[in-house]
Amino acid sequence: MGSNNSPNYGFNTICVRSGYQPGKGEPVVPPIVASSTYRYETTEQVHELFDLQEQGFFYSRIDNPTVAVVEKRVAELEGGVGALMTSSGQAATLLTILNIAGAGDHLVATQSMYGGSINLMQHRLSNLGIATTFLDNDVSAEELASAIQPNTVALFGETLSNPTLRLLDIPRWAQVAHKHHLPLIIDNTFPTPYFCRPFQLGADIVTHSSTKYLDGHALQISGLIVDSGNFDWKLAYQTHGHFAGLIEPDVSYKGISYVNFFGKIAFIVKARTQLMRDFGSTASPFSAFLLGNGLQTLSLRMQRHYENALQIATVLERHQQVASVNFPALPGNRYHKLAQQILPNGCSGVLSFIVKGANPEAERANAGRVINALKLINIEVNVAEIRSCMLHPATSTHRQMSIEELQLAGIEPGLLRLSVGLEDVADIQADLLQALAVLE
Ligand SMILES: *Cc1c(COP(=O)(O)O)cnc(C)c1O
Repeated sequence: MGSNNSPNYGFNTICVRSGYQPGKGEPVVPPIVASSTYRYETTEQVHELFDLQEQGFFYSRIDNPTVAVVEKRVAELEGGVGALMTSSGQAATLLTILNIAGAGDHLVATQSMYGGSINLMQHRLSNLGIATTFLDNDVSAEELASAIQPNTVALFGETLSNPTLRLLDIPRWAQVAHKHHLPLIIDNTFPTPYFCRPFQLGADIVTHSSTKYLDGHALQISGLIVDSGNFDWKLAYQTHGHFAGLIEPDVSYKGISYVNFFGKIAFIVKARTQLMRDFGSTASPFSAFLLGNGLQTLSLRMQRHYENALQIATVLERHQQVASVNFPALPGNRYHKLAQQILPNGCSGVLSFIVKGANPEAERANAGRVINALKLINIEVNVAEIRSCMLHPATSTHRQMSIEELQLAGIEPGLLRLSVGLEDVADIQADLLQALAVLE
């Protein structure tokens, strides 16, 4: 049931079936192919694989049948032409950027992002000579355009930011990016394609931490890169000279030009055959098996996560000890209007709220007292799984940041991030209320 020859199946059918079609007498569950390598009959067959003249599995660092099932499935869910699974979400972000950027290049990204993505760009990539300008999510098209430099190669943001839950006006960012012949890369981890399909809003490449909702059960770590196939690399290269790596001959593959040879799937083929070959941040078949299993119920889970979170957000909003609640679906949210445009059916199960306190120090202490009083809700660094879990970003995921950087990223000292799970919503609510009661 590959993307090219399958009928136009709906989202749920893709979740359950895509990427695997068993033949007569074969298992209905995609098997775990625990094999590092594959047998061929002649050495000429192997030559063709190595020259990229033939498709086929030859070494599991690059490609594996179990991994291929989920790659196909997620590519279809996002409406893309191809996907590459990676060993983590971090690796997906890294390989996506390195596929088009090198020393001397520049990125424009939002300030409100996953802490790991900020660290990656601000510290690791800058050490490699790739600079990033970080902008507020809500910059105007003019401000965004003025951050673009002659050496800018991509714009990057999160649909719904972790943990600040700020939305990105993807159509606006896409419009500016395309005016400058640059791709817009969107990390779509939080809404998942169930709530948002960034390609329909103009994004060119989507990344995922499939450690989160796509798996949804907190069973494994992995990431995905999905390409829309829509970005015109050749026109961009002719316009400003970037993306030579996709256009000019690759000497490490007998002088192949990815765009000339592979057309719409050039970005993914290059990421796989060049970067995955050389950097080796490969996803394991066992992770792919677990992820494929989780993907089957993506729609059911996302819908319930969202409904539970909406109820919890509504209750917290009315609570005396809560200064504010951040959940884009609430009518009073600053992004409510944009949410109706880009996430019309819901956002995710993640919300955050700020515990009251006389000053920032008291806020931080009160948040600590509330989180420590929880009985059902787990204290976890993870989010986006079936179990409800909570985190205090200022003392955990974002503790490497200075107060100034925290402020820039929009993290308040009393901010608690709550990932609403699939338990009975009455039980989640009761646990929160008894925990907040310690502040009375
Ligand atoms: C968790 C996360 C990542 C990193 O993914 P890992 O699988 O933990 O490496 C990237 N982006 C977002 C939005 C995340 O939530």
